[in-house]
Amino acid sequence: MLKITPYLGIIVLIVSIGGLWYPVLGYFMLLIFAAIFLISPFRGRWFCGNLCPRGSFVDFWISKISRKNKIPATLRSLWIRIPIFFLLMGFMGYRIVNTIGGLNTFEKIGMIFVTMCLVTTAIATLLGSYLSPRTWCSFCPMGTAQRLLGGKKYPLKLEKEKCINCKKCEKICPMQLKIRQEDSKPDCIKCGRCVDACPKDALKF
Ligand code: SF4
Ligand code: SF4
Ligand code: SF4
Repeated sequence: MLKITPYLGIIVLIVSIGGLWYPVLGYFMLLIFAAIFLISPFRGRWFCGNLCPRGSFVDFWISKISRKNKIPATLRSLWIRIPIFFLLMGFMGYRIVNTIGGLNTFEKIGMIFVTMCLVTTAIATLLGSYLSPRTWCSFCPMGTAQRLLGGKKYPLKLEKEKCINCKKCEKICPMQLKIRQEDSKPDCIKCGRCVDACPKDALKF
């Protein structure tokens, strides 16, 4: 995690609430998309654990009111995630295409991004409060895209001979990954919390 990571959540509020008055703020989403597609082929889901404003929002704001329950395994399945990716991206693309050519196209497209940010943040907030902060991140279309583009890159490695099975790493993992059992962890968001928590220095990237 970077030093700036805990403070990025404010951007979510600026874009999704401020954007209702200043739709141009919605174009910030394009920066997010660009960062994701530039970083993920080399670092997998690193963006999710270090630079995503919504990731920061759920980790540092929603976690304070979260019931911290288990994230349902079905939400992690690619059988669910890939259709959600195409549904949301298709819907956004459809709305943008239908807006082009009319009056105030620039502002209207900005408002489409703002609406998308607002709706997905509302879902992330509800799921994060009721289940676990990172529930949305288990099936977020941008998380799925990063997994598909670079799920094997920059892997977390466990030195099994050092591990004493204290489970401190798994207790702290915001994605609730089975760190000791899974060899490949394509949904690891590279936040580094497990590395810091391990008393035996058994984990590293
Ligand atoms: S899964 Fe989506 S909302 Fe969560 S941190 Fe990644 S890009 Fe952001
Ligand atoms: S496995 Fe470690 S680095 Fe990956 S998401 Fe969990 S705590 Fe963060
Ligand atoms: S925190 Fe370290 S020692 Fe404890 S279970 Fe995890 S890897 Fe093993």
